[in-house]
Amino acid sequence: MTPEQLDAADELAFARDLFALPEGVIYLDGNSLGPLPHATTARLSAVIAEEWGGDLITSWNRHDWIGAPARVGAKIAPLIGAAADEVIVADSVSVNLFKLLAGALAMRPGRRRIVVAAGDFPTDLYMAQGIASLGLAEVIAADDPVAALDDRTAVLLLSQVNYKTAALADMATVTAAAHRAGALVLWDLSHSVGALPVDLGGAGADLAVGCGYKYLNGGPGAPAFAFVARRHQADFRQPLSGWMGHAAPFAFAGDYEPAPGIGRLACGTPPILSLMALEVGVELIAGLGVDRLAAKSRALTELFITAVADIPGLTLASPMGPRGSHLAFRHPNAYAICQALIARGVIGDFRDPDILRFGFAPAYLRFADVAAAAAILAEIVATGAWDRPEFHARQAVT
Ligand SMILES: *Cc1c(COP(=O)(O)O)cnc(C)c1O
Repeated sequence: MTPEQLDAADELAFARDLFALPEGVIYLDGNSLGPLPHATTARLSAVIAEEWGGDLITSWNRHDWIGAPARVGAKIAPLIGAAADEVIVADSVSVNLFKLLAGALAMRPGRRRIVVAAGDFPTDLYMAQGIASLGLAEVIAADDPVAALDDRTAVLLLSQVNYKTAALADMATVTAAAHRAGALVLWDLSHSVGALPVDLGGAGADLAVGCGYKYLNGGPGAPAFAFVARRHQADFRQPLSGWMGHAAPFAFAGDYEPAPGIGRLACGTPPILSLMALEVGVELIAGLGVDRLAAKSRALTELFITAVADIPGLTLASPMGPRGSHLAFRHPNAYAICQALIARGVIGDFRDPDILRFGFAPAYLRFADVAAAAAILAEIVATGAWDRPEFHARQAVT
């Protein structure tokens, strides 16, 4: 079938109109910052004018701002195979990693090791190193993290989908291996939630974090989420014991007492405007159905792989087997090619040292967009259009 025929047969085609996408742009970076849903504009305008502007502080009760972290967490839960009371929205991924790693170490007294995958998203390693700097742990960054598990391992921290290559870990197998070693597993779902079906419950997972501003389209800097399996919640202690995680924040009691359940993962006052934007994004993705989204994403990536197969110097750095919703390619001139693509309206990104990364968020991309992006990439490489001084200049954010 031609790309146009694939679009005509696409049962998700209607969803593109739910997003504000600029004319002339093919957006292949929804895995880094999801685009703006139209419904978010309307919702935020109402929250700002009516709730903040009109009802002021009474909105915490009247509009249940106070319940929003748990409410939005409960809406994320079905996307990741969790129960509604196992997920809360709070803080950033990095801060949630700190809370969950520290909590995991406390659950495995006598074990000091955090095992991370070498080549995983840097903040995951950095946060583990921060915990180690407090004298609480040592960090093992391993090429084969499962092989590195032993009776010194308290927790294995791993992305389900690698941010660079899109390699997809087998959650059930890895979780079982960690449990056999007596360790807990902390899954980072940042590049899988909203793009692939995730089954934390089916895998027997312990802990997880994930990102709100990527495939969930929560907006720049949207808060992240944290998952703690129900069986661990009663014993789970995290050290960022802020008042919003207290059992009775408005009792203003003398000492910290954790809220029952997932509420103890909260720390300070939630960012209400960002939370409301995230809620819209989550509802939109949940409504489209993650199985349908994953199937379309696979078809989009396969079309792109085929369409760029003959471009000289470009090699696929993503697996042909199970993978996430983005693709990585190596090219010696990746940075300049990426800038030249952006100048032509094809927005992907560059990851050091030589990776071109393209996200295929299935909610709004058309097969025709993907074919056009591949044709523009082929033309830029064939004509050398990337080799201009302005495309070589490094910017702060790549
Ligand atoms: C995007 C991403 C993060 C982001 O962390 P923040 O603290 O929210 O900036 C963390 N881990 C992974 C694997 C990611 O892909």
